[in-house]
Amino acid sequence: MKLVLATSNKGKVREIQALCEDYEVVPYGELIEEFEIVEDADTFKENALIKARAVFKALNNLEVIVMADDSGISVDILNGAPGIYSARYAGVDATDKDNLYKLIEAIKAKGVESSPAHYTAAIALVTKDSEFSVHGWMYGNAQAYASGTGGFGYDPMFIPLGYEKTLGELDEETKKQLSHRSKALSLAKTILQTI
Ligand code: IMP
Repeated sequence: MKLVLATSNKGKVREIQALCEDYEVVPYGELIEEFEIVEDADTFKENALIKARAVFKALNNLEVIVMADDSGISVDILNGAPGIYSARYAGVDATDKDNLYKLIEAIKAKGVESSPAHYTAAIALVTKDSEFSVHGWMYGNAQAYASGTGGFGYDPMFIPLGYEKTLGELDEETKKQLSHRSKALSLAKTILQTI
């Protein structure tokens, strides 16, 4: 079954392809020209639905299933920031590195070395006659330093609960087992079997 992903984030595409081996997973940019999607809702779920609906409409092909993910990190000492603003925390054109170091500085500014935090992933599925959404979470601690080169985004500063290394230092297999996206995807796969 062909699953079109409403994302151009290479880190996410790689993770979703690794977790959905039974599907032909294609980023939408391989089928049509990428376009700007305004994610202006105030929940992960609604933003995922906005992306999936926009790509489904643009593809103009009733046979496809479009999957979109909206995700981010919420840090307790920052009252849940950056949350839904994770991708643009350091500005609209911010790189993953800009966002990572801005979050490290924000935690340091609170005078602590780390804070409880969690990642959220909302996944939306849109087909010609239905819409679904599911969530997954990963809990741990956001550190006021970065270490390791694995993963992407905020991974070099995040230590999952029960571990002593950041996701940047841990191997991909470990992240695959723990991640918010894996948990949401396993629920999404159950839905896909019924479509
Ligand atoms: P989105 O593409 O709008 O969903 O934005 C997600 C933001 O959260 C990006 O800044 C990502 O770098 C960050 N993010 C989401 N999931 C992860 C993850 O698994 N590891 C690291 N950063 C993540």
